[in-house]
Amino acid sequence: MKGGGAYINIGSSSSSINSSGSGSGSKMTLGKSVKMYLTIFIATTCIYMVLYQYHMSREPFSPSEVGKHQEKSSSSSYIASYLWSPISLLMANNLTSNNATTTTTTTVATTTPPLYIITPTYRRPEQLAELTRLGYTLKHVANLLWLVIEDANKTNPLVAHTLDRIGVPYEYMVAPMPEKYKQTKKAKPRGVSNRNRGLEYLRQHATEGVLYFADDDNTYDISIFEQMRYISKVGMWPVGLVTKTGVSSPIIRNGKLDGYYDGWIGGRKYPVDMAGFAVNIKFLRQRPHAQMPFKPGYEEDGFLRSLAPLDNNEIDLLADECRDILTWHTQTKKNPPAQALNKTRYSNTNLVHIDKLLVRP
Ligand code: UDP
Ligand code: MN
Repeated sequence: MKGGGAYINIGSSSSSINSSGSGSGSKMTLGKSVKMYLTIFIATTCIYMVLYQYHMSREPFSPSEVGKHQEKSSSSSYIASYLWSPISLLMANNLTSNNATTTTTTTVATTTPPLYIITPTYRRPEQLAELTRLGYTLKHVANLLWLVIEDANKTNPLVAHTLDRIGVPYEYMVAPMPEKYKQTKKAKPRGVSNRNRGLEYLRQHATEGVLYFADDDNTYDISIFEQMRYISKVGMWPVGLVTKTGVSSPIIRNGKLDGYYDGWIGGRKYPVDMAGFAVNIKFLRQRPHAQMPFKPGYEEDGFLRSLAPLDNNEIDLLADECRDILTWHTQTKKNPPAQALNKTRYSNTNLVHIDKLLVRP
């Protein structure tokens, strides 16, 4: 958080400690103890400031493009974090006396590579619940930008409101599935236009760090995010499944990637799950044509193939060299939309307000 120009007038406090001195000896002692107390005070203050800066550096970082969301969404939480530090209260004063729209960023330079999380989402009764759960998972991860991309023609204020309240730095965009895929009776390429929109955004705005496709309905252990930050080209790891196969994973034999374990191989070069890989941004930018195909079942494979040339030994193996499960491809039961509220019976009640918070298809 920027708070330049903050100062503490320690000198003024010493004027109040000057009574009850009789002899010159006791004045000396008093002078000495005042000095001692001042030293302790200054030392404590310094330690406190260092601890506070460390605390702030753990707050999610907000890249400049999304400063407005962070400012609007979590100003209250930042104010709450000021409360536990008197020093930062001084800094807060300084901040508010400037321009109220000043973007708040951390003062500690962070060297950790940023994460860009691309999350496809779409309108359905479970949508806000899924985004809330994922959002609060991501809130544990520093230096992250959440790209929430809805398969729709326009954004939904209820989604924006949910993202604001969670307080993770985000960008909310739309990318509708092309009409010809929507109409088909066959399997649809779910989330593909959303993810390609995310890739386009990254090519425009991101220069370094790592990209990960996190579907809104999956489950993530936050330690995978810290591991994926340092991927040099592509990283892979196991994904727990809710099918009889149990897991989708690279096979590691003698310390080397030696094929894949998955319930369905389907002639894929990379039979992996969407939740089981991440890609370095610099590497992505060296592959200007890399994108995800509108080919149900082959989305991951098509995207990873489009990153060629990529040698198997250039794939980083995360999650304890693929001996651990840190992400799960979970699925939420599909539910019918909520029935319409009886506005006559419940007029002038809270239910009228709540009803407006429900997402109906
Ligand atoms: N999705 C989408 N439009 C759709 C269906 C799904 O944008 O019409 C998103 C969804 O929110 C999720 C991703 O695409 O983030 C994958 O969809 P889903 O979870 O339904 O697929 P599954 O995990 O069952 O393969
Ligand atoms: Mn899913």
